Amino acid sequence: MMTIENYNFAGKKAIVRVDFNTPLDENGHITDDTRIRGALPTLKKILNDGGALILMSHMGKPKGKVNPKYSLKQIVGAVSEALGVPVQFADDCAKAKAQADALKAGEVLMLENLRFYAEEEGKPVGIEKDDPAYEEAKKAMKASQKEFAKTLASYADCYVNDAFGTAHRKHASTAVIADYFDEQNKMLGLLMEKEVEAVDNILKNIKRPFTAIMGGSKVSTKIGIIENLMNKVDNLIICGGMTYTFMKATGGKIGQSLCEDEQLQLALDILAKAKEKGVNLMLCSDSVVADKFANDANTAVCPSNDIPDNMMGMDIGPESRKRFAEVIEQAKTILWNGPAGVFEFDNFAHGSEAIAHAIAKATSNGAYSLIGGGDSVACINKLNLGNQVSYISTGGGALLEAIEGKVLPGIAAIKGE
Ligand code: AMP
Repeated sequence: MMTIENYNFAGKKAIVRVDFNTPLDENGHITDDTRIRGALPTLKKILNDGGALILMSHMGKPKGKVNPKYSLKQIVGAVSEALGVPVQFADDCAKAKAQADALKAGEVLMLENLRFYAEEEGKPVGIEKDDPAYEEAKKAMKASQKEFAKTLASYADCYVNDAFGTAHRKHASTAVIADYFDEQNKMLGLLMEKEVEAVDNILKNIKRPFTAIMGGSKVSTKIGIIENLMNKVDNLIICGGMTYTFMKATGGKIGQSLCEDEQLQLALDILAKAKEKGVNLMLCSDSVVADKFANDANTAVCPSNDIPDNMMGMDIGPESRKRFAEVIEQAKTILWNGPAGVFEFDNFAHGSEAIAHAIAKATSNGAYSLIGGGDSVACINKLNLGNQVSYISTGGGALLEAIEGKVLPGIAAIKGE
């Protein structure tokens, strides 16, 4: 497989799929430029070699329609500043051939939001799955997706995918486009390489004990990864809103806490599987409960399986924080996905803080720690502990799917798997 380090971009035009889906405020100003900074090593390597850059990305979910709210034009200034060179803009990503052809070494062209075209995602628009004409529409859309990818490919001599956040999607710019370049002219970007290495550390180079901390709101969205981790980890800490589905399933009283009633059996199955596999599954034994879903709610601490009828579990309690921290601090491999409580409210962020501090401590003792998924990353950054963990992934869904052991289409398209 070709790598970006081995490729000489001199005199070449490179089309690079980046993830510039940056959060913007209501005035169109970037509130967090992590994703732009993440792409810089790849982009600078190409420019320093003497190549020309064509940048393509999506932003938001415009669902195949032009929408100024999601225009990438809003971030041209920020990208130009980060790269230190002017950035040209193509208002229509599918009609940028002339601009691409005119690019000279060291110049940069950014294409408008790929998702202004439904062909990017390749899903038929305006027709439901149960419609008898759906299959025909899907076939037609797949054909026009190929045409769209071919147009994008025609702008450049080589293709680089550095957008880990969308690598689990088989979209025109993340996978289909790769078919139009031969093996020597397509490669993963440097950020993508780092993400793949981080996943390998968790899946292949495991140092024990391996402790995973799964938080967040719902069991249903994490079940794939929980089941997969059960084959690998020594300790599995389950916290966050998921806790109460487990408590109810085992006969506890959970008051007004979040609960997925349709997942009660699944929760029991997970507990049984942990026992069978000899995994130490830890649930939060005490909770900080509140009388409303708000930062200024009245609070109390009580057993997670005996919550008063008018209260809801919002965070892990002091005893659980201590139990979890003890296990995390002993770990040699750590994966954290999803907050331990409603961390957006400062009063219910203490559990997530305790976890973040324990991970930082374990890391300073030589553990490998990987943090992934938007909320746990936001939490680590809020506490300024970003530089005290081993790796912070830029991928949410993509990271979880990779750790579940699924082959990501964006990576397979380049590696040829
Ligand atoms: P997820 O996207 O599944 O990782 O969930 C993240 C969300 O879970 C965050 O917005 C948290 O506020 C929420 N969350 C964590 N703990 C709880 C809880 N005990 N009750 C309700 N929501 C929670």
